[in-house]
Amino acid sequence: AGPDFNEHVLHKTILVGDSGVGKTSLLVQFDQGKFIPGSFSATVGIGFTVSTGRYCRVRWLQNKVVTVDGMRVKLQIWDTAGQERFRSVTHAYYRDAQALLLLYDITNKASFDNIRAWLTEIHEYAQRDVVIMLLGNKADMSSERVIRSEDGETLAREYGVPFLETSAKTGMNVELAFLAIAKELKYRA
Ligand code: GDP
Ligand code: MG
Repeated sequence: AGPDFNEHVLHKTILVGDSGVGKTSLLVQFDQGKFIPGSFSATVGIGFTVSTGRYCRVRWLQNKVVTVDGMRVKLQIWDTAGQERFRSVTHAYYRDAQALLLLYDITNKASFDNIRAWLTEIHEYAQRDVVIMLLGNKADMSSERVIRSEDGETLAREYGVPFLETSAKTGMNVELAFLAIAKELKYRA
């Protein structure tokens, strides 16, 4: 770990990507180890961001501790309340994020094409050193796949970010994705 790494600090980690790609399902799988089918868009929660002192609509605000090489890394994971449908994820959502999971759905070409737009927004509003990980979700739906793994890899390489295919349904690579984020947060310091 870097000399300044503090295991008591909460690292704000946000989920980003088009509506329906599986952000909430991924978080539920990581948090509870199970897949709850159906969309989560109906319920809206209210969260309070201490750092900005403003109310912000979030669907989920979950604290998780991940152990990396015997050291605890605390993640405060934020999920949107569906604002991504209107491309109106607030700038406050990005502002103090230290890590970001950017998702597309391997069965939805538009969600993959929109990754570039999301990255443009991220580069505009997020901190310069934000840790980014690109995820191709719904990898269990192989018969409906329209985005090849290589396409995800190529895009990730172009932007210099790590890439994994995940399944919020089977749990494939879900923990690994959060572990990779935690590892990066710990060692980049
Ligand atoms: P969000 O809008 O990005 O938060 O997406 P949701 O988590 O609400 O998921 C949208 C839909 O895709 C729901 O019907 C989920 O059950 C489904 N879904 C999410 N992740 C997966 C996955 O990995 N595999 C499959 N087969 N379905 C998924
Ligand atoms: Mg959601």
